[in-house]
Amino acid sequence: MRIVRFSALTDAGFGTDPHYGVVNDNDQILVLKGDPLFAGIVPSESKVALSDVRLLAPVLPRSKVVCVGKNYADHAAEMNSAVPEEPIIFLKPNTSVVGPDDVIQWPRMSERVDHEVELAIVISRICKDVPEARASDVIFGYTIANDVTARDLQTKDGQWTRAKSFDTFCPLGPWIETDFIPGTQKIEARVNGEVKQSSTLDQMIFNVPRIINFVSSVMTLLPGDVIITGTPSGIGPMPEGAEVSVSIEGLGTLTNKVSNRAK
Ligand code: MG
Repeated sequence: MRIVRFSALTDAGFGTDPHYGVVNDNDQILVLKGDPLFAGIVPSESKVALSDVRLLAPVLPRSKVVCVGKNYADHAAEMNSAVPEEPIIFLKPNTSVVGPDDVIQWPRMSERVDHEVELAIVISRICKDVPEARASDVIFGYTIANDVTARDLQTKDGQWTRAKSFDTFCPLGPWIETDFIPGTQKIEARVNGEVKQSSTLDQMIFNVPRIINFVSSVMTLLPGDVIITGTPSGIGPMPEGAEVSVSIEGLGTLTNKVSNRAK
């Protein structure tokens, strides 16, 4: 099931405020009553064409986006880092989340803003100390993230909070796929149409059950929390005005533009 969050571009009879919906095979959205994370899948009578809406970030994390660093061996190597023995985690604030086609705002403080394509897990329920064998019980679905990073500030600060936390630095979308099972799917990033990152999900060092087990052994996870699972090699800068597309086979493509650097 493909779940979207959207605003209707015209008055389709149910208002233009953000709604959730399920996309069918004919690119029609069956509009849902309420947030499916909390209300379940409760269909309304309304339908709208996918082409008549503006897609928003498919989930608004209530508390946090947890990020895994250096989770692909080739990326650890390009950062001159050893492969970690256990997951390295950090946080992005929920205020960094934007959706498809939103503009990534280049902050005045930074001279280099990078793309990082990542598989994103959406958590379905309150959980703590989740055994690997029960990880699927707490997954609502998957989407795509761009872990936008002010690379110069990451180096300068010696820790990652500022570099990872600017508003608009966590594009998510285009939708949540509830039936996705991570395997050998391709994961790619393109800048102005040119492939910059290309790998497969089976190259992750720590897989999804291990990540959920590890993160939930540190902190309680809440419904709508998002965990992003690391990026393959090929990270690099996004020029001013660039169009950046991150894609995962089976999940679609998330595209955003980068602003000019703030003066
Ligand atoms: Mg990352």
